[in-house]
Amino acid sequence: MSKTILVTGAAGFIGSHLCAALLQRGDQVVGLDSFNDYYSPERKRANIEEIRAKHFALLEGDVRDAALVNKVVAEHHLDAIVHLAAMAGVRASIRDPHLYHAVNVAGTLNLLDAIQQRPNINLVLASTSSVYGATERIPFVEDDPCDRPMSPYAASKRAAEILAYTYHHLYNLNVTALRFFTVYGPRNRPDMMAYKVVDNIFFGRDVPLYNHGHVFRDWTYVDDIVAGVIAAADRPLGYQIINLGRGEPVQLADFVACIEELTGRRANLAAAPLPDTDIISTHADISKARRLLGYAPQTSVPEGVERFWQWYWRHVLQLA
Ligand code: NAD
Repeated sequence: MSKTILVTGAAGFIGSHLCAALLQRGDQVVGLDSFNDYYSPERKRANIEEIRAKHFALLEGDVRDAALVNKVVAEHHLDAIVHLAAMAGVRASIRDPHLYHAVNVAGTLNLLDAIQQRPNINLVLASTSSVYGATERIPFVEDDPCDRPMSPYAASKRAAEILAYTYHHLYNLNVTALRFFTVYGPRNRPDMMAYKVVDNIFFGRDVPLYNHGHVFRDWTYVDDIVAGVIAAADRPLGYQIINLGRGEPVQLADFVACIEELTGRRANLAAAPLPDTDIISTHADISKARRLLGYAPQTSVPEGVERFWQWYWRHVLQLA
């Protein structure tokens, strides 16, 4: 049966893929996005230009605006909310921790307040592998305390998870926080590693090889993330935290080599220390996602990188 789903951050990288998939299966989608300038708002408009459809209502607004959030929730008969809107830069969060707090924590609180008396709305929150911070438990398992986040971004996401627990406890809300692991694919955010590696290789700029390339990321293709998000939106599960990764980390040096092969160009590798905000390895234990969501990532890193590269070639290089 068709559902009505509010997607915050609808015009972003993951949001635009999610909206497309929900519309494709016949849902009514209400998208909310502020089109902020963390990266080009034109890019975000282009993201959703491709998915304009009869059952898609796009609202331009900010989750920090509590009155607006209340109004949106009151005016639509929502089955679920997928809350993706956020300031999402790990390193950038050091420069403006107050903004990260206002959007990621207070913005989430506005949504929790808005559905306080509506426990029939299933809330899915976008969280992140960054919350695992300085943990020594690898692979990352959801019951890790996650009390040593290494950036204001990670701390804000962990705070949002914890606030959501309180609202689940007090108001019986269904909330699933999904911890995404290094998502990549077409429409990737330009500040993310996959995008920067391709862009730097193509334009002959240095590619920083952090920690001599001995950095592992659990790269997860965006379609797999979207499948996990939709499964969570369809299942009220009380309060859950669930990893969405691929479960097979790839070394940065191998990731760069894969892109070199596709582009037919060599990277100018430049040794660089790992930033203080970053961990050497991310690795998701995805057994909980398999069990509760039927999650089964389909796209290997070589396949995903090839699709990302095709998009970059058609949409970024042709416009450059
Ligand atoms: P994105 O920046 O492309 O998308 C976020 C969208 O939210 C943007 O379109 C932005 O305009 C919007 N937004 C920002 N602040 C807003 C506000 N105050 N009100 C309304 N809209 C606002 O980022 P993304 O990579 O698509 O990430 C989506 C979510 O997934 C974020 O919550 C992010 O923290 C989380 N996440 C992403 C990754 C990843 O690898 N991309 C990994 C872990 C978690």
